[in-house]
Order: sequence, then C-alpha cells, then structure tokens
Amino acid sequence: MENSVIKCLIIGSGPAGYTAAIYASRANLQPVLIEGLQPGGQLTITTEVENFPGYPEGVTGPQLMEDLRKQAVRFGADIRSGLVTTVDFTKRPLEVTVDGKETLKAHTVIISTGASARYLGIPDEQKYNGLGVSACATCDGFFYRKKTVAVVGGGDTACEEALYLSNIAKKVYLIVRKPYLRASQVMQKRVLQKENITVLFNCNTLGLFGEEFVEGAKIVENKGTDQEQIFDISIDGFFLAIGHTPNTAVFKDFITLDDQGYIDLKGKTTETNVEGVFAAGDVADPRYRQAVSAAGMGCRAALDAEAYLLEHEL
Ligand code: NDP
Repeated sequence: MENSVIKCLIIGSGPAGYTAAIYASRANLQPVLIEGLQPGGQLTITTEVENFPGYPEGVTGPQLMEDLRKQAVRFGADIRSGLVTTVDFTKRPLEVTVDGKETLKAHTVIISTGASARYLGIPDEQKYNGLGVSACATCDGFFYRKKTVAVVGGGDTACEEALYLSNIAKKVYLIVRKPYLRASQVMQKRVLQKENITVLFNCNTLGLFGEEFVEGAKIVENKGTDQEQIFDISIDGFFLAIGHTPNTAVFKDFITLDDQGYIDLKGKTTETNVEGVFAAGDVADPRYRQAVSAAGMGCRAALDAEAYLLEHEL
C-alpha cells in the first residue's frame, strides 16, 4: 500500500541520526527513526562534551543526546526502539526489517549506525568480560574506586578514559603500543601531568589473569627487539580504548564499503552506491568522527533525501 511507505527512514540515534530527523521532520518528510541497541549512541557513555558548539559551559553526553532527541520529537519525528536486523536495498520501495519481525518499506533510508568499540582480540577479553574487562570507563569506572586499573590505547579516547579513571581509582596504567601518544596535545599534557597515571610506552598486552575477576595483565615491552621483556602488572580492571569499528555488517551485501568497513560516499554528497540510500556520521567517516561533524552530515543526508524525493516525485 503506497500510503504505508515511509518517506525517510533513519537508522541510528546518534548526533547524525537525530539531526537528520530534525531536518527531515521540518521538511515534512515524516521521518521514522529506529534507535538501535544503544539509544543516543556513543555519546551516552561519555562524560563532559566541551566542543559541541552552543554549550559554552559544556554539556554531558547523555544530556546532549536528550536535547537532540527532544528537538527531533518536537517537529514530529517518529522515534522507535528496535534493531535493524536485515535490509533489502534491491527492492523498491527499499525494505528494512526490525528485530527480525517487522519489515518497513521506505523511499529513502539514512544510515547513521555509528561505530562500536574495538577489542584486542585476545581470548582473555571474553573470559573476563564483565569480570574486570570493559570498553567504557564512564559506565564501569565506578566499580574501581581506590583500585588499580589499566587503559589500552594512545588516542584521545584512551587519554580521556585514563583521566576519568584517575579521579576514581588509586592508580591507572596507560598501555600504549607506540613510543608516543596519538592524542591531541592538550590531552597528552593532562595525562602526563597526572601523578597517579603511569604510561607504559612500547607495550602490548599478552593476556590477563585472575581467579574469578581480573587480577593482573601480562605485558610485553619492546616486542620483537633485543630489549624485549615480559612482565606482569597487578590490576583490578582492564579498559579498552583502541578505536572503533563501523556498524555496517547488516548493509554489506548492498552498500559499497571501504577496506575498513566504513560506507563509501559518492563525491561531496551523502549518497551511497544505492539510489535513495544515504549515510551520515561515524559509519561513513573514518577521519573526523566528532559529534558536531556527525550532526553536520545528518543535516546533509536529510537534505539529500529531500532532494531525491522531490526529483523522483515521491
Ligand atoms: P584513535 O583511532 O585515535 O586511537 C586508537 C588508539 O588505540 C591508538 O593509540 C592506537 O595505536 C591504539 N590501538 C589500536 N589498535 C590497537 C591494538 N590492537 N593494540 C594496542 N593499541 C591499539 O581512536 P580514539 O577512539 O582515541 O579516537 C577516535 C577519534 O575521536 C579521534 O579523531 C579522536 O581525536 C576523537 N576523540 C575526540 C575526543 C575529544 O575531542 N574530546 C575524545 C575522544 C575521541 P597507534 O597510535 O599505534 O595506532
């Protein structure tokens, strides 16, 4: 039935998805937004956001997402909980199945499914998952009051998490595989000045140990060189902060991805290789990955979807 076809279906509820919903609803496209597993996206597990324009005093991640959601709802966006499990982009209208049950038909789809935290891939991460291993300091840091923890990674996320944990835990190790931090200068400075953070440069994690919960990590320093040495550190918590993987698995049979799995966009637009399907935010942006750049892409995707609908008289 033609009137049951959604004009603009948005998948994902981070800054890109909500901004697309704000623009699409104001353009009277009556968008439907499917929230996904983590409503509000990655920012709901961060603390203070100081670089989103319009908040001179900063704002917490969850508050920012709540504000964006409210703004989308105010203009009539239909926000639904659920996880997109399959899609069929060979069909017209496009088909998107939610929770393996309900198949929605849409003239345009905006993919804004973001990216998920990456793990090292060592078996002990699975073994101790929830028993000392975490990929979210702000979610789980509370449990490590006055304890010793390690954070893996040398980027802004790792530094942010190490700093956050240093205010809760007694001691924080930052395990960095290179001889330098990749994080911005300001974050590096804060980490290096914090007296209860010890940075272990040139170090990789070989494994974790502990009776039931994590009690320590086996570390290799200067791996593969004649200065290689293996040692243990005593820790109660092990936090991963080594980047993210784009959430594109469900689209991979239809949408062109780059070699890291991010969605390839056409030229200067948010168009994918499939007509009527657009992408915005971290899922299509391995480079900038900021809340504000994701929001900007969400705006562009909604405008691209609107132009497509006009052009095709849908
Ligand atoms: P990044 O990709 O910037 O950094 C990942 C870090 O993890 C690097 O130090 C990398 O090491 C290390 N790493 C990757 N794989 C492994 C592995 N297998 N073993 C050990 N270490 C590994 O990711 P982030 O999540 O830190 O940041 C993503 C983006 O978000 C960046 O652009 C960042 O600037 C931004 N960001 C901004 C914030 C802010 O402005 N407040 C806060 C957080 C993030 P190597 O350097 O050797 O590759």
